Amino acid sequence: MTEKLVDSFGRVVDYIRISVTDRCDFRCVYCMAEDMTFLPRAQVLTLEEIHTIAAAFVSLGVNKIRLTGGEPMVRRGIEGLCADLAVLPGLEELVMTTNGSQLVNKAVALKKAGVKRLNVSLDSLQAERFKQITRTGDVAQVIAGIDAAIAAGFQNLKINAVILRNRNDDEIMDLVEFARSRNIDLSFIEEMPLGTITEHDQAQAYMSSDEVKAVISQHYELLDSSRQTPGPSRYFAFADGHKSRIGFISPHSHNFCEACNRVRVTAEGRLLLCLGNEHSVDLKAVLRRYPGDMSRVQQAIRDAMQLKPARHYFNAADEVKILRFMNMTGG
Ligand code: SAM
Ligand code: SF4
Repeated sequence: MTEKLVDSFGRVVDYIRISVTDRCDFRCVYCMAEDMTFLPRAQVLTLEEIHTIAAAFVSLGVNKIRLTGGEPMVRRGIEGLCADLAVLPGLEELVMTTNGSQLVNKAVALKKAGVKRLNVSLDSLQAERFKQITRTGDVAQVIAGIDAAIAAGFQNLKINAVILRNRNDDEIMDLVEFARSRNIDLSFIEEMPLGTITEHDQAQAYMSSDEVKAVISQHYELLDSSRQTPGPSRYFAFADGHKSRIGFISPHSHNFCEACNRVRVTAEGRLLLCLGNEHSVDLKAVLRRYPGDMSRVQQAIRDAMQLKPARHYFNAADEVKILRFMNMTGG
């Protein structure tokens, strides 16, 4: 029987998110500073190290891996890594979160490599505004990338949109119609206060999932979906029977920690037990001290489960301020 990873609160961890790089071709205002300093290459996990860590987790019962970043597609060799991970015995789903900037060229290769699903981030459909939010991005390229992914056969594509008040909240319905026109799902994400963001006032820009849902409800009736996931997303279906679903990822307004089934591995190889806490274990140090010794990595992972905290803290009244940027963490 496969071993399971269980933390000290009895939660089974069967899902990992791995940040394959802290680098990105965008500089989204809620994710990065404009002049980011990225990690020196020697501090970033090699593709082989990522593979060893992933294999260790899968041998311990993890059945779903999400590759993220930074932007996973700026990592050279990502397609080969995907192909190697997709065939790990016991892994059910290899999925990826991407900004979509390179999907036009890479969607077919990712599909061939065995990536099952893609989440693509898209906060605005307006060229000027998209450029402002991402500081560098071209929305036409991302939309072409989404269409290329659909053409490559990716089903269950999902869009992620971070809504900021007075920035893109007037596009909620445009994004909904965009998703419906392509039969894809759309999740709205509340901004999380990670890193030190000076570009905007996070408290003023904060828009809760309930407010976003209220806007949509003026146009469409939403039904609580039967699709329950252990993650932070709550899903709703359209009462008119349309195939697309609307999700809300609400780290502030809905505490989802009790059912948390996931941990993260940062680009530097730190196993992060909770997005909203600093508890972590340095897996890269174990790997570099005992190269190729899978049993040491497995034991470090087992031991780390005891450090997984009960819940996260993101609210102003809470005392923990997370100093990591999202690209370090793997959102
Ligand atoms: N570069 C890829 C992308 O943008 O999809 C993957 C990494 S990105 C860090 C993953 C997700 O985190 C994106 O959907 C992004 O919008 C979201 N994100 C980044 N910073 C965030 C923040 N401070 N609060 C909430 N979501 C954030
Ligand atoms: Fe890059 Fe994704 Fe962060 Fe935007 S959200 S800067 S695309 S890592």
